[in-house]
Amino acid sequence: MNFKRIVIKVGSALVSPDGKGCSGKYLLSIARFINACHEQGKEVILVSSGSVAAGRGLIAHGSANPSIASKQAMAAVGQMQMMANWQRFFDFPCSQLLITHGDLKDRPRYLNIKNTLRVLLENRVLPIINENDTVATQELKVGDNDNLAALVAMVSDADCLYILSDVNGVYNKDPNRYDDATLLPQIETIDASVYAMAGGTSNKIATGGMKTKIQAAEKACEHGIQTYILNGRNSEVFSALLQGHNPGTCFVAKQLPMKAKKHWLKHTLKSHGVVVIDAGAVNALKTKGASLLASGIVGVDGQFAKGESVSIVHGESQEVLAKGICQYSHQELQKIQGKGSNEIETILGYCPSKEIIHRDDLVLVSAI
Ligand code: GLU
Repeated sequence: MNFKRIVIKVGSALVSPDGKGCSGKYLLSIARFINACHEQGKEVILVSSGSVAAGRGLIAHGSANPSIASKQAMAAVGQMQMMANWQRFFDFPCSQLLITHGDLKDRPRYLNIKNTLRVLLENRVLPIINENDTVATQELKVGDNDNLAALVAMVSDADCLYILSDVNGVYNKDPNRYDDATLLPQIETIDASVYAMAGGTSNKIATGGMKTKIQAAEKACEHGIQTYILNGRNSEVFSALLQGHNPGTCFVAKQLPMKAKKHWLKHTLKSHGVVVIDAGAVNALKTKGASLLASGIVGVDGQFAKGESVSIVHGESQEVLAKGICQYSHQELQKIQGKGSNEIETILGYCPSKEIIHRDDLVLVSAI
């Protein structure tokens, strides 16, 4: 297990195996695994499905195919049950984040999610994420939590994604129909032949099937996030993982995540403006691996919105030192430049982040 930050996606078939309320049956071994990760200093984010299944028995619906409003009501009541079910396995606090595709596409909201996750992880709180089913209309929905988990892995800069379900992984042919089907331990490239091996879901509780899992793996691998499909019903899977084995299917990530991100920051992301800093801040960025704070900023050039990328320039030498994603707009920065982090709230009336550019979102130009 050579990851530092992992997103673990748990499917409805594990949270609510019979589709009628929550069960601890399969969650215990998952929770033990999460505890073991914490003990090893690893950071875990959980994406948990199952709110609709957990709430199904609590909303009268009278048909095999409930209306959207009924399903949304099931999600609303089931989400509470599901969170309570998870929390009882942990001595540390759990937190709930309900998000939609619309939230991830909107830059300020995307940044808020990223910042919230960062602070939760710094405080050793377990973030548990689900789609906000009660507000998400079709066009705002990710639709399935496999793809949502891949997006969460991207926004949180995770380096690994586990998709836990009731299947062992990807087989070369349908294992329900062919006795000689074999599990593929590793997939290097995701192409049409890989999708062809995956049918839809045969499980009545789950939303996605193998197809959405492969889509998720494709997204994540493109961003340097190693992805595994694993059977969360089998507790031996977790012992194998802890011993460094791969008991499922591993999709090989394209590049190391930091390398990919630095490359993306440096080469792909266009600079929308310039933040000029003093010698103290230059030193902090270059030698201490620090984030950029308002106190070191002596000037702001150009127009940029919160969440856009900017170049960081040393005022005296005019040297371009770094590039990074700025947490504040140019108008906001003009008001808080040179000030202490604790003054931001008083000046602007809000302080979404004490760091102007967080170290994780910053790349030294000379370092690449
Ligand atoms: N958000 C849905 C739920 O909690 C699950 C979507 C999925 O299973 O992929 O019930």
